[in-house]
Amino acid sequence: MDLQTEVLIIGGGATGAGIARDLAMRGIPSALVEKGDFTSGASGRNQGLLHSGGRYAVNDPEAARECIAENRILRRIAPHCIEDTGGLFVSLPEDGLEYQATFIRACEAAGIEALSLSPRETLSMEPKLNPKLIGAVQVPDGAVDPFTLVVENARDAESRGSRLLLHTEVTTIVRTGGRVTGARVRDRITGEEFTISAPWVVNATGAWANHILGTVGLKIGIALSKGSMLITNTRLTERVINRCRPPASGDIIVPNDTVSILGTTSMRSDDLEYYEVTPEEVSFLVNELAQAVPAIRNERFTRAYAGVRPLVQEGETDDDRGISRGFVLIDHGERDGLAGLVTITGGKLITYRLMAEKIVDFLCERMGLHVPCRTHLQRLPGAGLGHTLKDRLLKLRRQVPASRSEILCDCELVPRESVDAILREGKVRALQDVLHRTRLAKGTCQGGFCVYRLLGVMNEMHREGRLGVGSSNRILKEFLEERWKGIRPVLWGISLKEEELIESIYKGLFNLKPEDETPGGQP
Ligand SMILES: Cc1cc2nc3c(=O)[nH]c(=O)nc-3n(C[C@H](O)[C@H](O)[C@H](O)COP(=O)(O)OP(=O)(O)OC[C@H]3O[C@@H](n4cnc5c(N)ncnc54)[C@H](O)[C@@H]3O)c2cc1C
Repeated sequence: MDLQTEVLIIGGGATGAGIARDLAMRGIPSALVEKGDFTSGASGRNQGLLHSGGRYAVNDPEAARECIAENRILRRIAPHCIEDTGGLFVSLPEDGLEYQATFIRACEAAGIEALSLSPRETLSMEPKLNPKLIGAVQVPDGAVDPFTLVVENARDAESRGSRLLLHTEVTTIVRTGGRVTGARVRDRITGEEFTISAPWVVNATGAWANHILGTVGLKIGIALSKGSMLITNTRLTERVINRCRPPASGDIIVPNDTVSILGTTSMRSDDLEYYEVTPEEVSFLVNELAQAVPAIRNERFTRAYAGVRPLVQEGETDDDRGISRGFVLIDHGERDGLAGLVTITGGKLITYRLMAEKIVDFLCERMGLHVPCRTHLQRLPGAGLGHTLKDRLLKLRRQVPASRSEILCDCELVPRESVDAILREGKVRALQDVLHRTRLAKGTCQGGFCVYRLLGVMNEMHREGRLGVGSSNRILKEFLEERWKGIRPVLWGISLKEEELIESIYKGLFNLKPEDETPGGQP
């Protein structure tokens, strides 16, 4: 089934989905190819911080200005993906107040509202902060739900004619002389291979940018930096907490729905598919962040996870925190003599829309089109529909008990009806696809008590011929193995007890055995 389009987008992270939406809104046909589900890359493995730009104000004013501009736009176009928590840059005695003054001046220069608070005011707002703090600055940071943001950009693009191919990977770029003409792709579920022809190919694969470029003998300067994060069992603070000091590792806490996300570390990494959070990183994050919020030492953690940032690098440096968080747009026609190929990488989750705007402006100019960008004006389709925990609780309370639907995930109150609606769309091809589109398995039990119920529902659908999911037992084992990687680094105290309970349920009651213990392999 060879396909033809105007623009082939490789990568279904925030950047790729944003580009698909922007192109569709300007009437330009496109196809997007993603090797997993949307948000399989850094877009689903970040800290979920809606940056005000404060973090970059002193050292990277351009990135700071981009952040505050996009922060304001996202609040308008995607209010349902954002929690307006506000943020505090907290000074501890060892940070001193000198940096605070520099920080406030830099924020003002970048157009970021920055309000200095006394220790008393700060502690009345966030009682769990270290009582020894010497001051804080309030900025318009917030929390963003990357899963909803990306999926909604993609859905909107599709409704306007964009073709989206998930679980489909680009294996090589196709060139004819000095021009790119498309790409060879492979469906990773069916194994089918085909060609997508397009006069323009956009490489929006983030950290994988050089994998794609390598297929045509090209390379750009990016450093890959792994960042690890921890998820707490409760929400520690109401606001985003930053340390008021030059950006370093282990200095941000982001509230996220019912939990908080602690981060991050920064370590060079070459492997983009298999990386784990080490016990050293966990100890580092707990010790470092407990300086700002001492209660962290006694907190229960539900999971650790990591993502890889592509940092755009000109020369050689070992100081990853010193590399700009800005993005680059590279026209390989101009740089390498290979026309029709463009790479966009770097940046932040919250600058995805701007990145998309820049690349679509570039393509329009080359195509001789004069259609202005409207993505900063038009709200995403789900804006106005309740997604927050408060919305979910209110909806449940309004229903009379008899009409309450079956709850699939007790930790995060995910009703069966919302999963049914996703399955009915007919787009889902793997378990992870459902998990990316709901809060199922994101709570305390990490899927231990809900994923088998979800598989039951998927199996029912499968019997009706709607879903090719394969063996439920195999999928369940793969899920448990994958979750285990994130649970193992934070396994002590009560988490350890719960994990033992879950293990005994699966092994003792469900008779689930590791793959190599199952006679004949498949159950
Ligand atoms: C630890 C960490 C914390 C962060 N915290 C924040 C934060 O709090 N706030 C913020 O704004 N930003 C944050 N970021 C940055 C942000 O996550 C990224 O800038 C953003 O998600 C990049 O999006 P992207 O679409 O460019 O790349 P990605 O999301 O990585 O998307 C690239 C996609 O390309 C796909 N792909 C790769 N190869 C192929 C192929 N051959 N064929 C088809 N598809 C392919 C991948 O599967 C992937 O889905 C953080 C990043 C990290 C790593």
